[in-house]
Amino acid sequence: MNPQNNDCIFCKIIAGEIPSKFAYRDDDVAVFADINPAAPVHLLVVPIKHIASLTTMTDADALLVGKMVAAANKVAKEQGLAERGYRLTINCGEDGGQLVQHLHIHLLGGRPLKWEN
Ligand code: 5GP
Ligand code: ZN
Repeated sequence: MNPQNNDCIFCKIIAGEIPSKFAYRDDDVAVFADINPAAPVHLLVVPIKHIASLTTMTDADALLVGKMVAAANKVAKEQGLAERGYRLTINCGEDGGQLVQHLHIHLLGGRPLKWEN
């Protein structure tokens, strides 16, 4: 499978060009570990379809983003995070601290998280 966007690291992961272990994967969403974890559990929830950012998603993508949240919740439960809780974060654009231009939700958990902004 060729990456949808050859300049996109997450498209390459999704396409299997960069071997990765998926915590979850279906036709719409993939979940894999962040390369530089900020918490004991730090996973990235991405749409299979290349969407650069929240600012480029359309109303037609709303169901897909809902599926990303549902997948994050499913994996969080599997990782034992449901009882103590966890955090989902989407960084958007330069001020939001977005470094990879393929929409992703950070799933963070396994320790108490401070609110840093
Ligand atoms: P952002 O700042 O765009 O919200 O987050 C990008 C995240 O992607 C960072 O937490 C970073 O550690 C992670 N990341 C960057 N490159 C790679 C990679 O090649 N593989 C994986 N698994 N994660 C990556
Ligand atoms: Zn991409």
